[in-house]
Amino acid sequence: MGHTGNPGNTRADYVPPLNNQTLFRRDAYLCMYCAERFPTAELSRDHVRPFSQGGLDTWSNVVTACRRCNNAKAWRTPEQAHMQLIAVPFTPTYAEYIFLKGRRVLADQMEYLLAHFPRTSPLHARIRHWLN
Ligand SMILES: [Zn+2]
Repeated sequence: MGHTGNPGNTRADYVPPLNNQTLFRRDAYLCMYCAERFPTAELSRDHVRPFSQGGLDTWSNVVTACRRCNNAKAWRTPEQAHMQLIAVPFTPTYAEYIFLKGRRVLADQMEYLLAHFPRTSPLHARIRHWLN
């Protein structure tokens, strides 16, 4: 991968690997269509713009969806399916990714990582939600 492992790494072109565990954590285990929270086993990776319409398997084109919503949406875009996303998908920065993939992050490590999240990161609100 070539990066140094420093959470302060702010390279604009850094793209963390995409996997379901990290994706579901990015979206706080909420279905991005019905806004309900589900256990991992009932969640799936939805391609906002489906493969059949040129969509890619990238962070900015994937969201967490419950099986019911994913089936209902099928191979359509949200507009075509008349379904609305509750949040815009985003590519995590390096610091965000370290946080998201950690099973258990130490409190001081968490603060350090949070300090490196962009101010506009939707994760600030989600993390506050988790900690409450
Ligand atoms: Zn749903």
